[in-house]
Amino acid sequence: MPDLTYQPIAVLSKKLASGEVSSKDITLHLLDRIERLNPAINAFIRMEKESAVRDAEEADKKIASGKSGPLLGVPIAVKDLIAIENGVTTCGSRMLENFVSPYSAKVVEKLRKAGAVILGKTNMDEFAMGSSNETSRFGPCLNPWNTETVPGGSSGGSAAAVAAGLCPAALGSDTGGSIRQPASFCGIVGLKPTYGRVSRFGLVAFASSLDQIGPMGLTVEDTAIILQAIAGHDPMDSTSVDIPVPDYSESLNEGARGMVVGLPKEYYVKGMDEEVRAIVLNAADALEKAGAKIEEVSLPYTEYAVPVYYVIAPAEASSNLSRYDGVKYGYRSDHSATLEEMYANTRTEGFGAEVKRRIMLGTYVLSAGYYDDYYLKAQKVRTLIINDFKDAFKKCDVLLTPAAPTPAFKLGEKTDNPLKMYLNDIFTINVNLAGVPAISVPAGFSSAGMPVGVQMIADNFNEPALFRAAAAFEKTRDPEISQKHPSL
Ligand code: GLN
Repeated sequence: MPDLTYQPIAVLSKKLASGEVSSKDITLHLLDRIERLNPAINAFIRMEKESAVRDAEEADKKIASGKSGPLLGVPIAVKDLIAIENGVTTCGSRMLENFVSPYSAKVVEKLRKAGAVILGKTNMDEFAMGSSNETSRFGPCLNPWNTETVPGGSSGGSAAAVAAGLCPAALGSDTGGSIRQPASFCGIVGLKPTYGRVSRFGLVAFASSLDQIGPMGLTVEDTAIILQAIAGHDPMDSTSVDIPVPDYSESLNEGARGMVVGLPKEYYVKGMDEEVRAIVLNAADALEKAGAKIEEVSLPYTEYAVPVYYVIAPAEASSNLSRYDGVKYGYRSDHSATLEEMYANTRTEGFGAEVKRRIMLGTYVLSAGYYDDYYLKAQKVRTLIINDFKDAFKKCDVLLTPAAPTPAFKLGEKTDNPLKMYLNDIFTINVNLAGVPAISVPAGFSSAGMPVGVQMIADNFNEPALFRAAAAFEKTRDPEISQKHPSL
């Protein structure tokens, strides 16, 4: 049998169509690999073994009857805040530990319709709040490149699973960098689509004006294939936008010639990690050699993105998470004398420390007397950040920046200092505040052998420009970058 580990979706689907392998072969191979290797990194928190094998057999029947499709028979993992009908969706929290979803998320329906095989659910920071996957109820996920370091977060499980060759691709969600930063830390590709491009129906809400589901995979092409399958308007999500989904495959081979690539000067500041800076500037050189024009641009409100995000995201979270009261969903404390006590005990016992911190922060900034000073002001600065991007995209097709200020950090390094943890999001959260799409692409390794990604950002609904620049960059890259894998 051919080697089925670290095979991109585009390669697997050719092998499937030609009959060289069956979907069941691939699925059983990965399930076995997960069983052997997952204990070392804790990337998957639940397997959907039986339904995965059933899905694979179903896909094999379809292939035998002459059907084809880029995802038909391809195994994929799903972050555990995306609902699967009759499956448990924990969101990495004790609060939802036993919560069985009565319906599937739109993205899951779409993946299933495309014939994908859902392998299982991946680890994450509790309620997607974190940058290191250390706040999970089910224990931290570890970075397969060095298990003393974090995989990033909050989609750490999805990133680690792909990087460890446990699945060719996974879905993540990105509210403030949660797809792109773990992709950078784990040496894979991660795409946050434009806000409204992908339905959020069935995604457990963290900060509804920022949340977006997106693909994580081995290649830029694979993320385009998945976006193609999951994008589009959904009447069940009123913020999903009803504009046509272009054929993303077209942009993959257009090359960077003629593109204008902006380097925002606020992202290349004194004190940033020198190795990261060198890798990102190398990527700029590579794009220039491939025919792109490099220009310095300015996004003057960048420095306010962290404080603005950490007002708006907790504000929305405090409102969204008020539904977990022991009555409607999930965990209920069983030793309370009154209803009020039951609410309090449920939330005290059901949520971890970071989630409580966010709820308190959010409730504070929304409270009478502080609303104008914090929440309203943050919303006004958010508009200035949106305008920064609008101005930049008058001159550039894409912006090139680091995805994270450093390579993966050590487990426990930032857990005592939430501010330090929040500052790790400095290059990713402005993108969510503006709603624009961005991708993280592996670009090199630190001297300690840890992967480093670069981020490309495009204007609203201009994912084609992202795919074009990212795929062009991928072609210029030292082949070692895509061929090197962690040894577990
Ligand atoms: N690290 C950010 C936070 O903790 C982003 C999380 C996310 O994108 N879900 O809020």
